[in-house]
Amino acid sequence: MKRRALLRLAGAAGVWAGQLGAGRAATGAKPRVVIVGAGWGGLAAASALTRDSETFDVRVFDREREFRSLPLANAWLVGRTPLRLPPLDLATLARRQGWRFDAAPVQAIDRARREVQAGGERIGYDALVLATGAVGDPAAWFGDDARAASEARTRFPAGFEVGELETCRQRLEAFAEVGGGTLLMTVPPAPYRCPPAPYERAALIGWWIKTRRLKAKLIVLDAGGGMPRFNRLFGERYQAQIEHRLHTPVRRVDPFRKTVTTDDGEERFDHALLLPTMHAGALVREAGLLGRDAQGAATRWAAVDAGTLRSPHDERVWIVGDAMDNVSPLFGAYPKTAHIAADLGAAAAAQIGAALHGARDAAPAALPRSLCHVWLDAEPAEQLILDASFRRRGDGLIVQSVRQTDNPQPRDEDLQWARELMAQRLGVSLG
Ligand SMILES: Cc1cc2nc3c(=O)[nH]c(=O)nc-3n(C[C@H](O)[C@H](O)[C@H](O)COP(=O)(O)OP(=O)(O)OC[C@H]3O[C@@H](n4cnc5c(N)ncnc54)[C@H](O)[C@@H]3O)c2cc1C
Repeated sequence: MKRRALLRLAGAAGVWAGQLGAGRAATGAKPRVVIVGAGWGGLAAASALTRDSETFDVRVFDREREFRSLPLANAWLVGRTPLRLPPLDLATLARRQGWRFDAAPVQAIDRARREVQAGGERIGYDALVLATGAVGDPAAWFGDDARAASEARTRFPAGFEVGELETCRQRLEAFAEVGGGTLLMTVPPAPYRCPPAPYERAALIGWWIKTRRLKAKLIVLDAGGGMPRFNRLFGERYQAQIEHRLHTPVRRVDPFRKTVTTDDGEERFDHALLLPTMHAGALVREAGLLGRDAQGAATRWAAVDAGTLRSPHDERVWIVGDAMDNVSPLFGAYPKTAHIAADLGAAAAAQIGAALHGARDAAPAALPRSLCHVWLDAEPAEQLILDASFRRRGDGLIVQSVRQTDNPQPRDEDLQWARELMAQRLGVSLG
C-alpha cells in the first residue's frame, strides 16, 4: 500500500475516525496497531501498514515463530513434491519490514481498556486486527473430555493448521511403513478452510496408496455432499483405494479404541486424519466478537461488516481471513483461502489507514479474489483452477462468481501463484 493511497483514503471520516489515534497524536506518538495472527491475513496487513511509511506502530503476535504455508502442502504431505515454499522466520521479516514481532499467544482481549494480554504483558492498541484463522473445535466430539481431545490431536492430526503439518506427514509415513490398513479422513460441515483441500488431499492419498502398493483403503467420511468433480474422479480412478461416504457426519470419536461413530454405526481405523468442525477460535469467542445466525444464536465465526471489515461489536477491531463470518446473504462467507485472507489483510490496512487519518466517507473495503490451483491427480499431473471473484451489485450486496477450469498439463502455475501472492501481499520475494 502506497503512502499516497493511504492518505487518499484519509480524505474522508467515520463517526469516530480521526479520534482513533488522536490522543497519541497529541503526544507525537504513532497510533498503535496490534495484529493477532501472522498468517496470510495478518502478514498482509502488517506489510501494507508498514510498506512505505512509518505512520503506525505495528506489533504482531503469533504463537508460531515461523510462517509456513498450507497452500501447496497437500502434495508435499504424500511426497509428490518437495516443500516448495520455505518457512519464513517471522522475527527476521519483522525487522526487515519495520514492525515488531512477539512469538506469544494472545490470551485475552480487554476491549473496554483496548488492551490484549500476551506473555504476562498487557499491550494497548488504537486499532486491533484479528487474523487468527480457523481451528478445529473438538468440543462437538469430545465435550469437555480434554484427554480424548488431546489424544486425537496428537495422534491423528488433520494437518489443517500449520503447527500440525510435520506430525501429520510423519504419521502418514509411519502408517505406510507398517503396511497400511484403514485410513480414515473426516470432512467437517462447511464452512471450513479451503473448500477443495480435503478432496485434493484424498485424491493425492489415493495416488499414494496406489503407487506405494499399500494394502490400504482411505475412507472419507464427509458431512456434506462433496465436490462433483472429485466425486466422479474417486469413482473412476481410485475405486480400489478410496471409499467416499457423502452426508456422513461423525458424531463421536474414541481415539483410544480408534473408532468413530456415524449415524450408520461404528467404524474402526488404523490411522486417521481427524478434522473436526472448524471455528474462529476461543480468543474471538471469549472477546464477545462472534456473529449471530437468523435465529439469534452465536455462530462459529467473527462477525464482520463487509464494507469496512470492522467488527459490528467494536469499531476498533478489524477482522480478516478465515476467522470471518458471513459477508453476504447471497453466498454466506468468503471462501476461507489464503488469497482472500491476504487481499483482505491489505484491504483492512487501507481501512485502518483511512480511519487513523480521520477519513470521511471512507470508500468500502476493496473486494478480494481467490485463485486456487488444486491437484486432481498426481501422475500424470492434472489440476483444476478455481477462480472466485466478487463484485458489489446496485443494492450494495456482494455477489460471488466462480469459474472452474481444467488444467491438464500443469507447469508449476500453483507455485507461481503462491510466489506472486507472497511478493504482492506479504512483501516477500523468494528470489
Ligand atoms: C491443506 C490446505 C491446503 C490449502 N491450499 C490453499 C490454496 O491452494 N490456496 C489458497 O488460497 N488457500 C489454501 N488453503 C487455505 C489457507 O491456508 C487459509 O485460508 C489461510 O491460511 C488463511 O489465512 P489466515 O491469515 O486467515 O489464517 P492463518 O494463515 O491460519 O493464520 C492465522 C495465524 O494466527 C495464529 N493465531 C491464532 N490464534 C492466535 C492467538 N490467540 N495468539 C497468537 N496467534 C494466534 C496462528 O498460529 C496462525 O499462524 C489451504 C488450506 C489447507 C488446510
